[in-house]
Amino acid sequence: MTDFYEVLGVPRGATQDQIKKAYRALAREHHPDTGDGSDEERFKAVSQAYEVLSTPEKRARYDAGVDPSGRGSAGGPAGFGFEDILQTFFGGGGGARRGPASRAQRGGDTLIHAEVSLEDATFGVAREVTVSLADPCATCAGTCCAPGTSPKTCASCGGTGVVQRVARSLLGQVMSTGPCPACGGYGTTIEAPCTECSGQGRTNSKHTITVDIPAGVETGTRIRLASYGDAGPGGGPRGDLYVEIREKAHRAFERRGNDLHCTIELPMTAAALGTVLHVETFDGARDVDVRAGTHSGETVKLKGLGVGHLQRVGRGDLYVHLDVQTPTALTAEQEELVRKLAVLRGEERPDARLAAVNAGLFSRLREAFTGRER
Ligand SMILES: [Zn+2]
Ligand SMILES: [Zn+2]
Repeated sequence: MTDFYEVLGVPRGATQDQIKKAYRALAREHHPDTGDGSDEERFKAVSQAYEVLSTPEKRARYDAGVDPSGRGSAGGPAGFGFEDILQTFFGGGGGARRGPASRAQRGGDTLIHAEVSLEDATFGVAREVTVSLADPCATCAGTCCAPGTSPKTCASCGGTGVVQRVARSLLGQVMSTGPCPACGGYGTTIEAPCTECSGQGRTNSKHTITVDIPAGVETGTRIRLASYGDAGPGGGPRGDLYVEIREKAHRAFERRGNDLHCTIELPMTAAALGTVLHVETFDGARDVDVRAGTHSGETVKLKGLGVGHLQRVGRGDLYVHLDVQTPTALTAEQEELVRKLAVLRGEERPDARLAAVNAGLFSRLREAFTGRER
């Protein structure tokens, strides 16, 4: 049996889109009218492969090991209809096609949630998710028929899926057409439905899928995995799987856009004298220089240590906010020293000096909260 996937150069799990694209490219290349690359044999092979793989029912049967050039292909030895090919070429809407309806329908989309830590959102993470999905029935390969049986041509409509009704009216005979009630418009009836799937062509099972969660995701971000959703009824193609992200809050780091913010409590003496702090970031410990004379509310920016940008290079920044701690519960000796310092600095009875609006703590806080928002 010919390997149709190989003929089209697509993987076995290829989506309908991939199959269509591969076919179009090859068909153009080998079409008998194109001259140079023209190769009628190749063109026929490619068309046959496409005809089988693009029809969910046929593809399911082919995947299950049924040779499509054998029984059931009334369309001649090559087994493909020229009509289908023209439709693909000229992008026919499909809706206008006459004939019976296909039992195969696209499966539904599935939405699941994945919780990620702030650290995972910063760097991205591969996450295994478990989801219950419909699969093509293993017993009937999506054909809906009990093994060894096949759909019978509908006696009422002769396989067209359509019936004509003639009604007499004052104006004479009125013809109308509609889906055949005996077969539901499919043109065939299934007398012995597959018992495994109750004639639905699919069964449910648990899937474990590894989802590549990129850096920069946040609560509400949806990752689409095309053709990872439910298999369709009647051997139809899979829908899509969506993974919606929920970001867990971090104990110490807060995210604003792709910047991270944290606060470090700094003893008053260190703020006055200056020091080097070892800050545990998501990238490991970093030395943060605190200059002598640092005020409470001052910020040190660590460039590029924030959350990775979604779908572009680079990362946000990490802002370390310094919260100067005024010492409390002084011992007698400590109090003595502080009093001495106050005397030396002439600060025993400080004046109430009003700071300028733009230089005050309130202004700095406001900047931290609004100035860096995206
Ligand atoms: Zn079945
Ligand atoms: Zn019918």
